[in-house]
Amino acid sequence: MRALITGITGFAGSHLADHLLAGGLEVFGTKRVRSPMENVAAITDRITLIDCELTDAAAVEAMLAQVKPDLVFHLAAQSFVQASWTYPGYTLFNNVGAQLNLLEGMRRHAPEARVQIAGSSEEYGGADEEDLPLREDSPLRPLSPYGVSKVAQDMLAYQYFMSYGLKVVRTRAFNHSGPRRGEVFATSSFAKQIAEIEAGRREPVILVGNLEARRDFTDVRDVVKAYYLACTRGEPGEVYNIASGKAVTIREVLDILLGLAQREVEVKEDPSRMRPSDVPVLCGDAAKFTQATGWKPGIPLERTLSDLLDYWRERFRE
Ligand code: NDP
Repeated sequence: MRALITGITGFAGSHLADHLLAGGLEVFGTKRVRSPMENVAAITDRITLIDCELTDAAAVEAMLAQVKPDLVFHLAAQSFVQASWTYPGYTLFNNVGAQLNLLEGMRRHAPEARVQIAGSSEEYGGADEEDLPLREDSPLRPLSPYGVSKVAQDMLAYQYFMSYGLKVVRTRAFNHSGPRRGEVFATSSFAKQIAEIEAGRREPVILVGNLEARRDFTDVRDVVKAYYLACTRGEPGEVYNIASGKAVTIREVLDILLGLAQREVEVKEDPSRMRPSDVPVLCGDAAKFTQATGWKPGIPLERTLSDLLDYWRERFRE
């Protein structure tokens, strides 16, 4: 089995590569010329990395012609909600354009491959309390340019299934975290700041954004198992939530991390970390996916956060 991961050097992509290698698959992945390589540093001799800017149709064609994948995991995206307000055009162009090139290229070079499209809970956006937990048929009300780009990716994938019979399985993952999470995201930003404080690299003050938002967290290592199951056992044309079914406030996440900290830490609000229209609550129902594949999350949030903090501690020991 030849598996292709777009965005393999990113957070989820690198964990997915670990999971697929452990399962004995041949793993190919796309990177860009300036992509940071730390996340895949330990496995570069076991995977095939291909330079490919996905918004370049010719580059995507050549990459697919070379790889001829059986399974495709499309993870590459501008993935940071906050940045999507600063760069709405880039976020939409990049996320939709990259996927368009991928699906068009697959029509010619990998028409029989199965492809998983990484959608997001941000597609549901401004959900009403009574809609919770969100199901796949809950209304899509994206509240950020990122959320809109993910709705567009989702619909584009559906259209390529309907129009051309591509074996597309869409996932809508809720928040995930764990080691290697990008430092701009709340869980990782908190963990990094604590590790910096412990290492004596910053004052014992941690800067935070909106702590009242409620999110449904799953460990990235559980999520990548779900991506594999979605791609191999999901029904083409279908869409599946990947979620824990429990929502916690960002304040609770912070409290767990502060409880693991080896020093007293003061918490300070940072207005630059606030968003113009933050989604107040996201909580998903993954029953459809569990029924289709048997998947259930196994790693508790406390371990996810503890492993994330250890990841940052390790970085500062280097
Ligand atoms: P990351 O930001 O860590 O990784 C994204 C990867 O995509 C990077 O390797 C990046 O490369 C690459 N990429 C972006 N644009 C392009 C492009 N035009 N051409 C080639 N490569 C590109 O994201 P995550 O791993 O966290 O997320 C993976 C996917 O899952 C994304 O689609 C995200 O939207 C989705 N998702 C994530 C959730 C989460 O909680 N993590 C929740 C729900 C969905 P470079 O380093 O060069 O920029």
